Amino acid sequence: KLHNEIQELKGNIRVYCRIRPFLPGQKDKQSTVDYIGDNGELIVVNPSKPGKESRRSFKYNKVYGPHATQAEVYGDIQQLVRSVLDGYNVCIFAYGQTGSGKTYTMSGPDNGSEEEWGVNYRALNDLFRISQSRSTYKYEVGVQMVEIYNEQTKCCFRKLMKCRISCFIGETICLILDLRTLGILSTASLAVPDANMREVNEPSDVLRLMETGFKNRARSTTAMNERSSRSHSVVTIHVHGTDLKNGGSLNAGLHLVDLAGSERIDRAEVVGERLKEAQHINKSLAALGDVIFALSQKSPHVPFRNSKLTQVLQSSLGGQAKTLMLVQLNPEAASYAESLSTLKFAERVS
Ligand code: ADP
Ligand code: MG
Repeated sequence: KLHNEIQELKGNIRVYCRIRPFLPGQKDKQSTVDYIGDNGELIVVNPSKPGKESRRSFKYNKVYGPHATQAEVYGDIQQLVRSVLDGYNVCIFAYGQTGSGKTYTMSGPDNGSEEEWGVNYRALNDLFRISQSRSTYKYEVGVQMVEIYNEQTKCCFRKLMKCRISCFIGETICLILDLRTLGILSTASLAVPDANMREVNEPSDVLRLMETGFKNRARSTTAMNERSSRSHSVVTIHVHGTDLKNGGSLNAGLHLVDLAGSERIDRAEVVGERLKEAQHINKSLAALGDVIFALSQKSPHVPFRNSKLTQVLQSSLGGQAKTLMLVQLNPEAASYAESLSTLKFAERVS
């Protein structure tokens, strides 16, 4: 059944689009979104130039309006996440300009209730629940969290390494190297070099771990939101499954990616560090677009080596891997140009 489902999808790439609601206190509530169809159709219009010329129609696998809940969105992603337990590598990434809801979709709001949990937490919980309910397989799960900033990866768990022995999940904190030696990550294809890896036994371990990871990430900078919108955040869930009945094992992983903001930076207005950041972001998002485009065209050459981001994600893009792009939109009129460029980026690969 799984195989049939895969065959139907061109290059195993799905694209879902999510439009965030207007925020309380936001004055101008003219929306660029004109129509959302049940079949994944979306029509946007430039509110300052309404009329036929500015109406553009797009078609994706799904489109979520501003009232869609976190549970609803995850409901459509669930199957993809669960296929990791059958040995598939999966990549789910959120793309869009800063403020379009990428972090909301992937992680949920800060200190959010369980209802507001994003894809990251739901996926982890789901994987744990199902892996524990399968009696013929034994699963080991590890989690990594890295930030890619200016083409360099940085582990968000680094500070935790120090509490190696006293940490709340026993002695299970380990480096990838250790895991490789243990044979847990024999292929190790999903591992991000230099990142710390921790084994986790309960969903609550992971939630705590991720919170700490996010805090480490925040602590390393004065303006967390500022910085986080200019780096890519990659949570990787590694799964090693052992078939208890028939022997054999599988290694698979899930990459959950909150990308840097895709907004165009006016080169005339930024200099120094800010310009460098902008160039790195442009380069890596373009590289991601090129990789996914090549995959969607079933091109024999896929340019993975062009950015750190695509190198890190390589194992979960292409081949038998399944990819989901979550395209985020800010509906406000002032974002029309950015929204259009986001929608075009997604259209190229869908
Ligand atoms: P990004 O990560 O793309 O920069 P955020 O996820 O931080 O954007 O979203 C910007 C603001 O909009 C935040 O205050 C967030 O809580 C809010 N927001 C985004 N999406 C939704 C949504 N679907 N429902 C309610 N609030 C949302
Ligand atoms: Mg964000």
